[in-house]
Amino acid sequence: MTEFNRIAFIGLGQMGLPMARNLAAGGFAVIGFDAFEPARQAAGDGGIKVASSLNEALADADCIITMLPNGKIVQDALLGGEAFLEAQPGAVLLEMSSSAPTDTRVLAGRVSAHLRVVDAPVSGGVKRAINGSLTIMVGGDTDAVTQVMPVLNCLASGVFTCGPVGAGHAMKSINNFVSGAGVIAAVEAVALGTAFGLSADTIIDVLNASSGKNNATDVKMKQFVLSGTFASGFALGLMAKDIGIAAELADNLGLNLAGLKQTSAVWNEAAEAIGKSADHTRISEFLTKLSA
Ligand code: NAD
Repeated sequence: MTEFNRIAFIGLGQMGLPMARNLAAGGFAVIGFDAFEPARQAAGDGGIKVASSLNEALADADCIITMLPNGKIVQDALLGGEAFLEAQPGAVLLEMSSSAPTDTRVLAGRVSAHLRVVDAPVSGGVKRAINGSLTIMVGGDTDAVTQVMPVLNCLASGVFTCGPVGAGHAMKSINNFVSGAGVIAAVEAVALGTAFGLSADTIIDVLNASSGKNNATDVKMKQFVLSGTFASGFALGLMAKDIGIAAELADNLGLNLAGLKQTSAVWNEAAEAIGKSADHTRISEFLTKLSA
């Protein structure tokens, strides 16, 4: 069913594991690897083979998928010891982590004699990773993008080609800037409204039926913040990293974007105060404390 005989899936975390499992369920031969031993153990019972080393996973792969915390980690993993050379010559590296486009272009240049790189970061969170309905934004040359399309379609309900290598990663950082600004707005809306005497539920219900609706009011505030579960599965440090990528992109392009700078600063302060590994919806605790 696919041109690929062996997909090496590197990074079996909150997002990577359900994605790897969906590919296996879709008929792809997947061999996974994670540097964290408990993650390898957790992956063992879900339809994918699990390698005990990176090189074992990469050996003879004709497609490598990376779903790691950031592009520097991807570079370290694949370029360190030249592990990428284990894959078949001409294999596609599908970089699905939320990485900086500059890092992606450096990586693509370093591996170009052996691998073709497509960046394909995702949006939709753990829930949509599990049910195979992610949104994917893609950068890369047309031939390589065409070749990976069956893989992407197995994971997504929407795939958007954005331009050359790095374009998907640029788009992802832009998305998370808007998403992260939306979380701040939703949390501060509740702080403001409840201080006036409105109920939090009423505020969210009215926003969701009005022009103030955003992704945070729709799928985060009641579900993870007001319920106190803080279980979105997306870490605060990852959100801060993504918005930082957008801020750096603006700097590189000579743009002074006041809202982006402010949004990035607030997420960085929250990550420092609460901890990078906390769920990103816990920024509500930081903002609520700040507001008092
Ligand atoms: P995660 O921390 O749950 O998973 C990352 C995994 O990578 C971990 O299991 C870790 O052990 C592994 N890892 C780290 N370094 C490694 C290495 N050198 N070799 C092999 N494995 C290594 O993170 P996640 O939430 O799954 O996010 C992964 C990527 O997807 C990030 O770039 C993130 O920004 C992005 N993302 C996450 C979400 C979400 O809702 N969680 C949504 C969209 C995009």
